[in-house]
Amino acid sequence: LGRRINNAVSEATKSSTVTQSVVDTLLKEISNALMESDVDIKLVLKLRKKLKATLEVKESDNITNRKKLIQKAVFDELCDLIDVKNVEIFKPRKKQSNVIMFVGLQGSGKTTTCTKLAVYYQRRGFKVGMVCADTFRAGAFDQLKQNATKARIPYFGSYTESDPVKVAQEGVEKFKKEKFEIIIVDTSGRHRQEEELFKEMVEIGEVVKPNQTIMVLDASIGQAAEAQARAFKESSNFGAIILTKMDGHAKGGGAISAVASSNTPIIFIGTGEHINDLESFTAKQFISKLLGIGDIQGLMEHVKTLNLDQGDSMKNFQEGKFTLKDLQSQMNNILKMGPLSKIAQMLPGGIGEMMNQVGEEETSNRFKRMICIMDSMTKKELESDGSIFIDEPSRIIRVARGSGTTVTEVEAVLLQRNMFARMAQTTKNMQSNLPPGMADK
Ligand code: GDP
Ligand code: MG
Repeated sequence: LGRRINNAVSEATKSSTVTQSVVDTLLKEISNALMESDVDIKLVLKLRKKLKATLEVKESDNITNRKKLIQKAVFDELCDLIDVKNVEIFKPRKKQSNVIMFVGLQGSGKTTTCTKLAVYYQRRGFKVGMVCADTFRAGAFDQLKQNATKARIPYFGSYTESDPVKVAQEGVEKFKKEKFEIIIVDTSGRHRQEEELFKEMVEIGEVVKPNQTIMVLDASIGQAAEAQARAFKESSNFGAIILTKMDGHAKGGGAISAVASSNTPIIFIGTGEHINDLESFTAKQFISKLLGIGDIQGLMEHVKTLNLDQGDSMKNFQEGKFTLKDLQSQMNNILKMGPLSKIAQMLPGGIGEMMNQVGEEETSNRFKRMICIMDSMTKKELESDGSIFIDEPSRIIRVARGSGTTVTEVEAVLLQRNMFARMAQTTKNMQSNLPPGMADK
């Protein structure tokens, strides 16, 4: 998507005058690209209108500026759609009972996400309990019990009681009595008839009186997201969305419509099946991923939590610089970070594609060889942008010999650095195009 939009923008800004037909072609191309990424057609049309207005005002600008303006306008408008304003996001308070109820269709990831959120709050010092109010699906309680046990979270449920409203009520009452601070209620996502499911959500809501209701939405369902959000909004008026399965191929374009039509913010995204795979949502990061510009912010956050040795890499990166040494320390970090497949999807420079093509083990081996190649470089070489090798090709031969690799492999390292450096430049441009305060991370 990002590539298509970028190409369209480049095409449009090539001509020295922006005629109506150039603008129209550009808008059409951007619209098509967005719709293919599951963004709802009505939203695309709205966006198109807004962009058109932006483009017309700026006709007098020079080409570079215009290009930046268009890119920024697309980015901003998309962020605007997913960034819900004027809605207060619930914050649980300590020393009182905060009830959080989950709703969403079966398979969307409710039970998994309940546990993730429970762990999230437990780590922040809350006393957390989970209640299983899914009595519809056999095995639902066992699943929650298993998850809860693994995460050491107290739980409540019943094998014999078939009324979910009763179980929910009992569980919440019990945990309230025991002074639990966060009580998470997991519900069923299916019924013999859909209407009954929504009725059940209303009834459970009435007895547990949630302080917050969260709708869990599967990112991979595409356009269906909007209808789902609408249906649940009527019955349970949820105040937040958690978007799951963002680790897969889905880019979550459908969620934009769900957010826009329900006027409800996404608070977290689920990025895997493990209990730690829960990340805070930020509009900028989400849209960057949707546009395919690499999830740098997400990567940086992940890196921060791991306390890895960063040197100046991230700072350099944000300033649009990237030396071979930076590449080496990044590759080392990536190898340390574990599940490569997940990290790789966030990385620029075609590493995600390499992963998909040759697999995790081979990618990791290639990384190791590249690191080894960089070990054979001198300090001066490492701290350069690699052009020193182009100026003096004998250096390439020396490094290849020293590392027991080939000239082609050394050149591949240099290419890899170039790709990262381009990415760094894009990131920097994007950030300098953002309004103050948004470019802080
Ligand atoms: P529920 O029916 O809504 O309670 O959904 P579950 O929590 O049982 O999840 C359904 C399936 O989706 C399970 O296999 C989960 O492991 C999986 N799942 C949930 N969240 C994520 C996620 O963020 N990423 C991935 N890859 N899988 C997820
Ligand atoms: Mg479940």
